[in-house]
Amino acid sequence: MIRSIVTGGAGFVGSHLSDFLIARGHQVTCLDNLITGKKENIAHLLSNKNFKFIKTDVSRTLPILPKAQYVFHLASPASPVGYQTYSIETILTNSIGTQRLLDYCRKSKAKFLFASTSEVYGDPKVHPQKESYWGNVNSFGPRSCYDESKRLGEALVYEYIHKFKVDGRLVRIFNTYGPRLNEEDGRVVSNFITQALTGKAVTIYGSGTQTRSFCYVSDLVDGLWRAISKSATRGNVFNLGNPAETTIRQFAANVLKLCAGPNVKIVRKPLPQDDPIRRKPDISKAKKTLGWSPRVSLNEGLGLTIDWYRGRI
Ligand code: NAD
Ligand code: UDP
Repeated sequence: MIRSIVTGGAGFVGSHLSDFLIARGHQVTCLDNLITGKKENIAHLLSNKNFKFIKTDVSRTLPILPKAQYVFHLASPASPVGYQTYSIETILTNSIGTQRLLDYCRKSKAKFLFASTSEVYGDPKVHPQKESYWGNVNSFGPRSCYDESKRLGEALVYEYIHKFKVDGRLVRIFNTYGPRLNEEDGRVVSNFITQALTGKAVTIYGSGTQTRSFCYVSDLVDGLWRAISKSATRGNVFNLGNPAETTIRQFAANVLKLCAGPNVKIVRKPLPQDDPIRRKPDISKAKKTLGWSPRVSLNEGLGLTIDWYRGRI
């Protein structure tokens, strides 16, 4: 039996990854302190004999863990609202938490995957972003707790690969969306959909000309699995995201078309400090090495996501 450990397994991405692994016959141990995740996301898995949930903070101590083949380190708040509320916790989870999991992998010889982020590119001066780009990051601002702790996590992964021969790799995840995206964490996808469905004004920050590239969660999960399970991925960095780039203004128009009439208003709010102006992954490396590319179009993924929110509102 193959066993995987998923930190942050009660979160948005982690719960979908757990579903994916359970469906493939793995035993999954989910470590989560529920700081931004919800037990509701894994409620359907709790009675499964192959799924075990342990409520724990991976930046403090790790519980005694069973021997696993794969460790996915996804624990960390991910939205600007989430990581700014839990800023110190975010720093510790991506640094000390990462080190604890790397130590576990060093001893157990498990394969390790660290969930890094497109935020390590900061407000990028190079477009689209390739893995070789070093980024343009503010080390002293409201996004630093996230950006810099992910960068430190990356450095730890590098050192454990080279000093201790850990079988590690990392993925830089670009904006991902889908069912279970927490409606209260202020991300653009959850905000726009809940606003449009409840007839509230849709809040565009700044001019709305800033861009993002949105990846549907099933595509991301497929990429996470390929990045850890394919041969010759040790020591590599992969961008995982959908390169279809859209302005936030166009994205608002799409959401409105799909879930509400044209009567929903749009209001402008100030652009948050250090909000990246353009973001789009270059995924040629993941395509070539992992044979991966996203399959779900924005309209299809938004339709599935909106259906899920409709069932809750
Ligand atoms: P999420 O907030 O839904 O999930 C994160 C989970 O980690 C939550 O369940 C939270 O309770 C848990 N957690 C946080 N700190 C912890 C700790 N110290 N110990 C144990 N559990 C802890 O966020 P998500 O969108 O699912 O993101 C998952 C991972 O992917 C994160 O590492 C994030 O940085 C990365 N990522 C996500 C996106 C995205 O668009 N969703 C983009 C880039 C990177
Ligand atoms: N945004 C917006 N309205 C909202 C929430 C976000 O215009 O209600 C913008 C935000 O300023 C950013 C983009 O949408 O330019 C994506 O924001 P999100 O918080 O989802 O993720 P980020 O990529 O910034 O981490």
